[in-house]
Amino acid sequence: MPRSTKIVATLGPASSDSTVLERMLRAGVDVVRLNFSHGSAADHEQRAALVKSIASKTGRTVAIMCDLQGPKIRVGRFKDGKITLERGQRFVLDAACELGDSERSGLDYKELPRDVEPGAVLLLDDGKIVLEVTGVKGDEVQTVVRHGGVLSNNKGINRQGGGLTAAALTSKDMEDIRTAVKIQADYLAVSFPKSGADMYMARELMRAAGGNAFLIAKIERAEAVAESALVDIMRGSDGIMVARGDLAVEVGDAAVPALQKKMIRLGREHNRLTITATQMMESMISSPVPTRAEVSDVANAVLDGTDAVMLSAETASGRYPVEVVQAMDRICIEAEQTQPLNLDQDFFNRVFTRVDQSIAMAALFTAYHLKVKAIASLTESGSTALWMSRLNAGVPIYALTSQTSTRYRCALFREVFPLMVKYVGHDREELLREAEKVLVENKVVKAGDLIVLTIGEPIGKAGGTNTMKIVRVGEHRTP
Ligand code: PGA
Ligand code: MN
Repeated sequence: MPRSTKIVATLGPASSDSTVLERMLRAGVDVVRLNFSHGSAADHEQRAALVKSIASKTGRTVAIMCDLQGPKIRVGRFKDGKITLERGQRFVLDAACELGDSERSGLDYKELPRDVEPGAVLLLDDGKIVLEVTGVKGDEVQTVVRHGGVLSNNKGINRQGGGLTAAALTSKDMEDIRTAVKIQADYLAVSFPKSGADMYMARELMRAAGGNAFLIAKIERAEAVAESALVDIMRGSDGIMVARGDLAVEVGDAAVPALQKKMIRLGREHNRLTITATQMMESMISSPVPTRAEVSDVANAVLDGTDAVMLSAETASGRYPVEVVQAMDRICIEAEQTQPLNLDQDFFNRVFTRVDQSIAMAALFTAYHLKVKAIASLTESGSTALWMSRLNAGVPIYALTSQTSTRYRCALFREVFPLMVKYVGHDREELLREAEKVLVENKVVKAGDLIVLTIGEPIGKAGGTNTMKIVRVGEHRTP
């Protein structure tokens, strides 16, 4: 069976060269992430075009995810580019300050003075610097440095425990949504959402711009992790990202491992996708091999049931963008082989009322017990494949589709492998013959193998899956 867990790789200066990118894709990247916190719209458009051309040259299905910067709150710029803060000194965050010095810094989020009160703890640069608020006066947030260090231009600010009111979508994000639509992104990631409403808003804006990407909510705010908030956010999203970088700053690093497990479990229960992100292979930014701890982290995310594991700086600016993908690939494969399968147990908790979903579940259950070679799901929208992939049956699910957008989207689903079927007519037998041919040509199955097929009749209607069929490859089918 091919690797089930998918690999997301962030592009940046280290992965913009076409030979490097080609080697990365060949090493197993399934989704590329364009990080809108860095680079211009033109950079992203150029990278997307390069990915598309290399993917078609190599025959790989690679989806594109555009990741919006969101309301990351940052300090301003400093006269000398950076300052050093000493423990115990006073420091002012001043919404009116243009260029900072060792006593004060500007703020890109002018509302901060209204969102904090004495005693609030602010974490700068992913928590490397800690400030405690002592007072608020007009535009000024007065603080005392609890943990000092070097602070350079535009570093991020988080409030411990959450509670900043910044809207989830900034005017830059609205611009970037248009770029994402232009690029024909398959996924759009929204940073710092607090509620389902933030996600509905993002979807509205994307639709208005003519886009139809799947939405990923990045869970990175303290407000977003309560079960009720998570479920609300998931209702407005197609998937979530365990955004461990900002999340660890807001809720404390020790809380993150359990939250990761909870998010992945809830995601699967609610038929949503999950991506586990940030610092997975951090040491490989400068080292050709991962640490033991990183190997365990990736393997454990696989065992938690994540759809995808993500690389950030490792592939965007690291020295080993190809090796890190190769390392992730082998860690995932081995972890998957040790993963216990317990489909009967998992079925107890499933509730399904839709016909198409019932067929998906029946097909999965049958495939698991008959130990078939593969499941082939003839799907317009990909939802049959998505439902099947929410439970682990250890059987590869081939999403056979005539829709290009569905093909790319499915690249992120765990245990799902998209393949194109060119046939677009309405003859059922011909479609089934074509499907079988595609599976054989791609060496998924050979004559004599047993497969489970799902299909919607009449042919060609999205959401119409209503039939499951058990087929022995190469044998004559009775109509
Ligand atoms: P970022 O999001 O890399 O855009 O900050 C991921 C995270 O916070 O973990
Ligand atoms: Mn983040």
